[in-house]
Amino acid sequence: MRIVHNNLETQKEIPKTQEYVCVECGSTIEVDPDELHEGWLGALYFICPVCGKESMTDIETELPTKDNIEFPKHFNHTCVDNGAVDVSDGEMQTIIRRLATGMWNCTNEMNYNTNESSTAFVFIENLAGDGEYRIIVCKDYWEGSVKANPNDKYYEGD
Ligand SMILES: [Zn+2]
Repeated sequence: MRIVHNNLETQKEIPKTQEYVCVECGSTIEVDPDELHEGWLGALYFICPVCGKESMTDIETELPTKDNIEFPKHFNHTCVDNGAVDVSDGEMQTIIRRLATGMWNCTNEMNYNTNESSTAFVFIENLAGDGEYRIIVCKDYWEGSVKANPNDKYYEGD
């Protein structure tokens, strides 16, 4: 959207278009500010009219905080529909065994495997230290971040 003539004659700054290169297809696209939308980690994205895919701009924005984070707006959804490679049950079993072996061979209490190009996310914890390892396996997950507030107190347990 462009203002051809500002009938109110306000001093409002007319937004400028800017050129971006689509990270998906490499096309150069002229994008108006009102064609940008906020996405993963609060970054600004546009929908490429050439390939139809969402492309991130290099415009730096603030990370959300715990007080204004919104789901799913501020999260990246890793799933097959967003281009991640589906991990077979056999591949997932290999990842689980590799991580579990690592847990038994070192003193780590937590471990995980994530690869943005695949749907696999495995989390292993041994918080009780009683020899039982809890394993969480995700094949479709959301991931996000918030900016820490230096005034927030960390929970240190009872
Ligand atoms: Zn494109």
